[in-house]
Amino acid sequence: MGRFDRRVAVITGAARGIGFGTATRFAEEGASVAIVDLDESAAAEAAAKLPVVDGASAIGVGADVSNAASVVAAVERVVTELGGIHVLVNNAGITRDNLLFKMTEDDWDLVMGVHLKGAFLMTKAAQRHFVEQKYGKVVNISSISALGNRGQANYSAAKAGIQGFTRTLGIELGPFGINVNAIAPGFIATEMTDATAARLKMDVEEFRRLNAEANPVKRVGMPADIAAAVTFLCADEASYITGQTLFVDGGISLGT
Ligand code: NAP
Repeated sequence: MGRFDRRVAVITGAARGIGFGTATRFAEEGASVAIVDLDESAAAEAAAKLPVVDGASAIGVGADVSNAASVVAAVERVVTELGGIHVLVNNAGITRDNLLFKMTEDDWDLVMGVHLKGAFLMTKAAQRHFVEQKYGKVVNISSISALGNRGQANYSAAKAGIQGFTRTLGIELGPFGINVNAIAPGFIATEMTDATAARLKMDVEEFRRLNAEANPVKRVGMPADIAAAVTFLCADEASYITGQTLFVDGGISLGT
């Protein structure tokens, strides 16, 4: 028996990286999974790779989480095709890093739109179903960058905003059987961090080695590290935990 048998989990930005790792873990543990990502064919391809168990299924849904109409259509499609919605992981993300004096209004709006507005729109669309069935789990992906990170004024503000959003929804939705928590990952080896290495003109392996050195556990995180924490927070055994942000970062946020 899996922890998520007969549950439907929706993970945004899950065609690759942390989202795909998380979708994989939900599928392994019995859930039917909807991979929501910008590109429908990439989402469908990723869904086809998930290790779904007998009786469960997986679909890929193309949607832009920063667009209200797209989000409402995506959530309704999941409910129709998979028979409901029980878990929402707001993971979709982008970076548009620059020092403040070089950061454009577009860089600001795009990052806020995907991370913060995206989490708002997706949660609003899902909560209607969650409230009706008096059951729901939401995990929002924040970041250690919420604590401040040079060159990431937009991303840091969005990721800090996600923590306030999470606390508030913990208060509002708790009485309806809905748990809302956040995870703040440290450095996780994905295409997002590989792109940062490229931007800094650094070799990917060297960039990972330096980031591993920087934290107390002396390794970089992998998508499976975040997946383990997300699935814990979405499991029924964690139903007394809400409004929290869990740092999954090898201890780097502890300082030295
Ligand atoms: P990733 O490999 O870049 O994957 C992000 C996914 O989100 C991509 O598939 C991307 O699609 C999708 N996406 C972007 N904009 C979207 C939109 N408007 N609607 C729907 N999907 C969209 O990133 P990751 O490293 O796995 O990061 C996942 C989450 O963890 C993000 O929220 C990120 O900020 C957070 N995080 C990551 C790290 C890290 O070290 N990697 C650390 C802390 C927090 P396209 O490819 O089509 O753009």
